[in-house]
Amino acid sequence: MFTILAIDDQEFNLAFMKEILSDYIFLKAKSGKEALHVLSESKPDLILLDVLMPDMDGYDLIRILKADNSTRDIPVIFITGCDSEAEEEKGLTLGAVDYITKPFRPSIIQARVKNTLKLIHQQRLLEKMARIDGLTEIPNRRYFQEKLDYEFHSAVQNNHFLSLIMIDVDKFKKFNDYCGHAKGDEALAIIAKTMQSCLSQPHEFLARYGGEEFVVLLPQTNKTEGLHIAECLRVQVYNTQLTYGPLDAKAFLTVSLGGYSLLPKKDQQPHFLLEKADACLYQAKNTGRNRVIWDSQPSLKQV
Ligand code: GH3
Ligand code: MG
Ligand code: MG
Repeated sequence: MFTILAIDDQEFNLAFMKEILSDYIFLKAKSGKEALHVLSESKPDLILLDVLMPDMDGYDLIRILKADNSTRDIPVIFITGCDSEAEEEKGLTLGAVDYITKPFRPSIIQARVKNTLKLIHQQRLLEKMARIDGLTEIPNRRYFQEKLDYEFHSAVQNNHFLSLIMIDVDKFKKFNDYCGHAKGDEALAIIAKTMQSCLSQPHEFLARYGGEEFVVLLPQTNKTEGLHIAECLRVQVYNTQLTYGPLDAKAFLTVSLGGYSLLPKKDQQPHFLLEKADACLYQAKNTGRNRVIWDSQPSLKQV
């Protein structure tokens, strides 16, 4: 359900909007100052803003909202008695998505609010689709990259551990050769789901890195904890028993994993972590597959 914040100094107008917008969660504020307080605690999907208010008027408030990262994306509709062309132009130029003037007709306000919310919904869906992998329905590489940059920065700021696991399905070309590409697709989706079920904390982030490669980002996680998770991923994928191969030599699909932990420093780049985990994955492949190899920053070997 969508949440709407109405800002107007007249109690009568707020009551009127609450009544005609009863399909939505309704928040209200009687001044710009009160609105900023409401916005510090909740994030509405849409703001209905009056222009003429004592102290801070609607134009002043929209300037503040558009200058702040946390409120910039909330669409604003001016709803006001100021009906001159110049004022409407000013409101739209300052970033409002719509401008509704008196006389207020309930059906017109309802329709314009509904249209704006529909656009927001579609925009959010597109943003989500751009970050999710279509086959496995887990985050894609682009989303992972954003997350890695964010978590790396956050770990530097807070002096926290950060761990990363690179995962590659073993001999997957053979699986495709024996079972066909469609079954291969199914297997990748099952592997993604299986690995997701091993991750219990919301900050543990699994993504499809590309092809038959996955990656897990583990904020505030050291080597011991990371190794435990990696081993769980390995065992669970094996236990899924995705079989392939000739009748007399059936095999289960397995994964090889390379992990790395560090306390990131300001002068390091997020990519460093990926390279280190990838080097461990390479070792896991070369020493027999279906195994975890983990390394950590030299000074953390004992952690
Ligand atoms: P290794 O143990 O060395 O990783 O061997 P591998 O066969 O897994 O590695 P290789 O890189 O030779 O082959 C990867 C295969 O994964 C080839 C490619 O067709 C397959 N693959 C990549 N993405 C997909 C996908 O989305 N669906 C299917 N079905 N196969 C995929
Ligand atoms: Mg590969
Ligand atoms: Mg592979």
